Amino acid sequence: MAFCKVCACGEKIVFERRLSFPDNCPNCGRRLVDFLTYSEDDPRVEELIAANRKEKSEPDNTPAERPEDAGRSTGGMRVFVLKLPDGAEIVIPPEGGIVGRTELGGEELAGYPSVSRQHIRVTPRRSAGLIVEDISKYGTLLNGQRMEKNVPARVLEGAVLTLCNVEAEVSAKEI
Ligand SMILES: [Zn+2]
Repeated sequence: MAFCKVCACGEKIVFERRLSFPDNCPNCGRRLVDFLTYSEDDPRVEELIAANRKEKSEPDNTPAERPEDAGRSTGGMRVFVLKLPDGAEIVIPPEGGIVGRTELGGEELAGYPSVSRQHIRVTPRRSAGLIVEDISKYGTLLNGQRMEKNVPARVLEGAVLTLCNVEAEVSAKEI
């Protein structure tokens, strides 16, 4: 089974082994390590390509013209946050990243030593929730079910991610 990544430019890069992808996108030169790895036949791949090409071909859209912003009067941006048991919130930036004790949320997670230094990779998708990939040492549960390591899953608002044994509620807010 082959793997692939979809670059933000819409280019699909196929490779045979999980870690054998090239450093940079052959089309635009972006660093491919920043994009999630999918099975080549994953149905989400075609959706991603379509979504990325669409975003690229409509660069002049103002935020107010985007359907999800219709009816909103403020220019606030909606972001995902992970709410920790002590009330602290880890804000996920629109470009995504890695959540862990030495990454996004490092400060908020300082008191939770069971969370890995790099625990999950998160990528917000405007219309498809938060894409989460477990990259941790001790694992992650999604609504109580163990996530398969290194396999991206779609996570919606209200879900609970358990980082090792630390429950984090997936929420969203305007910033
Ligand atoms: Zn590219």
